[in-house]
Amino acid sequence: MVCIFCEIISGVVPVPARGGKSSPQILYRDDLVTAFRDIHPIASTHILIVTNRHIGSVNELEPEDASLVGHMVLVAKQLAAQARIAERGYRLIVNPGAHGGQTVFHLHMHLIGGKLARYALE
Ligand code: 5GP
Ligand code: ZN
Repeated sequence: MVCIFCEIISGVVPVPARGGKSSPQILYRDDLVTAFRDIHPIASTHILIVTNRHIGSVNELEPEDASLVGHMVLVAKQLAAQARIAERGYRLIVNPGAHGGQTVFHLHMHLIGGKLARYALE
């Protein structure tokens, strides 16, 4: 099964930039996670922090993934500071499963801040 986030992480698919232009928009990458802008931003800052390893959702996490999940939060904090939204505040959202609003089944955290285009994730 093709996973769009695995393809973005591996570089098969460039992350579409805002305005429809196709250009790489990897904002952060290390051994564990990759961050890029959401294709449908709901705020002026809307970044996805994605595990490099394919994990379907929170439901698939194991106890040994605790440091990975903590790392995602710390990377989100760093990106929030870089985006200058740290002081005013931001939202960190994870949506496990269909009823949780998950549409891409590869673990990711939304970093949302700045001017909101819509109030809530639908
Ligand atoms: P979820 O609803 O699973 O928590 O969030 C998935 C997010 O991935 C959505 O906000 C959606 O806009 C974003 N998304 C889906 N496909 C792509 C894509 O191909 N590229 C990027 N950059 N974001 C995507
Ligand atoms: Zn994947």
